[in-house]
Amino acid sequence: MRSKDNVDLICDIAELAGLFERSSSLTDFLDTATSIIAWHMKAAVCSIYLFDESSQELVLRATQGLDASAVGNVRLQLGEGITGLALKELRPICEGTGSRNPSFKYIPNIHEEQYEAFLAVPILRGLVRVGVLVAQDPEPNYFDENDVKALRAIAGQLATTIENANLLMTMHEEQEQGGAAPETPILPRFMRGKTISEGLCMGRGSVIGTIDEEALRAFDEDPTPRTLDDFRRALKETEDQLAALQRDLEEELSDVASLIFSAHLLILKDTQFSGAVESLIESGTPPQKAVSQIIHKYINLFGKNPNPRLQEKVLDLKDLGHRLLLNLMSHDSDLADYEGRIIVAEELLPSALLKLAAQRAAGLVLLSGSVTSHVSILARSLRIPTVLVDDGQLLCIAEDRSLLIDALQGTLFIDPDDDVRESYARLIEEQRRIELLEPQVDPETRSRDGVRVRLYANINLLSDLNHATRLKAEGIGLYRSEFPFIVRDNFPSEEEQTRIYSKLVERMPGRTITLRTLDVGGDKSLSYVQAHDEANPFLGLRAIRFSLRNRPVFAQQLRAMLRAGASQPIRIMFPLISSLDDFIHAREVVYECIEQLREEGTPHNSRPELGVMIELPSAIEMIEELTRETDFISIGTNDLIQYLLAVDRTNEQISDLYVPYHPAVLRALHRSIDAAVRAGNDVSVCGDAATDPHMVVFLIGCGLRTFSVDARHIPHVQQLVQRTEVEEARKIAMQALRLSRISEIEKFFEEQNRRVTEE
Ligand code: PEP
Ligand code: MG
Repeated sequence: MRSKDNVDLICDIAELAGLFERSSSLTDFLDTATSIIAWHMKAAVCSIYLFDESSQELVLRATQGLDASAVGNVRLQLGEGITGLALKELRPICEGTGSRNPSFKYIPNIHEEQYEAFLAVPILRGLVRVGVLVAQDPEPNYFDENDVKALRAIAGQLATTIENANLLMTMHEEQEQGGAAPETPILPRFMRGKTISEGLCMGRGSVIGTIDEEALRAFDEDPTPRTLDDFRRALKETEDQLAALQRDLEEELSDVASLIFSAHLLILKDTQFSGAVESLIESGTPPQKAVSQIIHKYINLFGKNPNPRLQEKVLDLKDLGHRLLLNLMSHDSDLADYEGRIIVAEELLPSALLKLAAQRAAGLVLLSGSVTSHVSILARSLRIPTVLVDDGQLLCIAEDRSLLIDALQGTLFIDPDDDVRESYARLIEEQRRIELLEPQVDPETRSRDGVRVRLYANINLLSDLNHATRLKAEGIGLYRSEFPFIVRDNFPSEEEQTRIYSKLVERMPGRTITLRTLDVGGDKSLSYVQAHDEANPFLGLRAIRFSLRNRPVFAQQLRAMLRAGASQPIRIMFPLISSLDDFIHAREVVYECIEQLREEGTPHNSRPELGVMIELPSAIEMIEELTRETDFISIGTNDLIQYLLAVDRTNEQISDLYVPYHPAVLRALHRSIDAAVRAGNDVSVCGDAATDPHMVVFLIGCGLRTFSVDARHIPHVQQLVQRTEVEEARKIAMQALRLSRISEIEKFFEEQNRRVTEE
């Protein structure tokens, strides 16, 4: 028996990166993949079929072992042959003797008949069909259960890269179309906006989304004539920089870094891309122009493609074009980075934001979005000073303008004069000095009259754990598990998730850890899940609704959470619960997972505490039953306010209607906290309202003893609690609850505040 060394190597992401580096083109990448897999499985044949969405056919794109002439020519319908059937039914098919399977299809002239054993595993990105990995061997019954598992793991790891390769290959057949360049308006020197993520920074501007005419003219005016060799050097430098960025990112942000630059790298590897630039250069076009023309061609093709996955890559292309041009102009590779730059963008995907963070962009100016939108939450986690300035003219700003962000006041300066620059330079220095000081935080928090209050941290990225431990968070009140899902091109595997959740548990030994299940939908979409257009995504298939409709995804996440909690208590929390039924259904899936893990003998937590987020008016109406059934509740005020008041939390136009002090909000908060306290249930508030000084007093007055906030708010929330006397807070809360108008409540809170500060 040949000894198979199934896959450890290929499951590893580093190996996959290596696979890229060794490939000289897309075809070469697929060929390398098939030969590596065949080698590891000691199988005579390994082939990759890719699914062509438009013709709904599988096309053989690479093979090790079958006749090379078959590549590009063998085409199968969905459901045709064992390979087509595996993709149609989204399941692996393993046959000891393939020809005995009723679906077996004889394909002449590819010399397949000698291979009896047949194993076909679908390649899926999320629920989207990408293709099929096929292994064949002459020895009947050659493949066993372990091989199925191994090939599945490989298909999972390669899905994203293979799909990107597929998209690029199909795109080459599309038509070229042109686009118009924006005009450059005159901009004011100072613009007022809104703070998204606090901080100060100065730097040169870069507009994401345009390689504008002015920038191109600058390239044209470059006095040094550039050559084909310069282009090849720039290509290589760009590739090296991106590979290095990917490595850095994996070290610093391991939970969200996975293959984030894979589309960039694939385009660089695409010989059709580099070939097109080279032939333009050879026919006399200056290299700068050639790069820009071909990048624009790709941008047009991607942008106009109906496939949203390709449209999403436009930002990557622009980024790539920017890099290539800068590398072409200069031997100083640092120039091609966004390091120290202030990025101006109409809107950003979370993954794009991560790429900018990896390149150490200094600050961010967004033209749309809002403080509670999830890109904003991520910007705060990444500690990138960010302002929101709703002025489309900014997009036409020339590259390299000097910008200054004051994301304490929410303002943006364009070409600030020397006085402004100097005074801000001093402020920035002062801010850095303060950040280095050890924060004054007590390990335990008590009110002025000695009542114990717990301060937990909200965690969005694993890197937030550093701040949470430094600022002595007593636990994690909310882990937003969705970011690793959002930035990837595919669902993270159970193993990957287990690794991420285990890090949370390990870093907070003996403390409360609250893991929230996937909260996607609304303003957080997963690019790899074929979404149906929703007129109102916040009222659509969001959070627990998505999980309950996608049971395997839900179960995989729950299993990972339960496994991570094998040696320590954990709490699992379901978002956007609208009924008791939602909770009971979710709980049933948890119980099923526990049972499965027990049967498998996999170490796990068999008694997690189960709780819900209170974010919907319907949950408030059901609060007594919910507190009776659950182990804990956490009130998500970001959503609760949105749904109670019917005000979209991401819509800046109506942000004045998004009012935490609305009497309906105060009453809903009081009702939920009171019900939980009476039921002896644990209750916390984890939305942004938990950091508002008036609300902290009000919530303590309602009986709240646990707050979960972004770690950077812990010191000031602690001070607020330490200044508050519980009985007095109770009186303030009761008085506020009797008021009927927003204006009365605002005035009342202001008066209370004045009184406390005067005392
Ligand atoms: C909330 O809605 O208040 C909350 C904490 O959850 P998220 O902001 O992630 O929706
Ligand atoms: Mg929420």
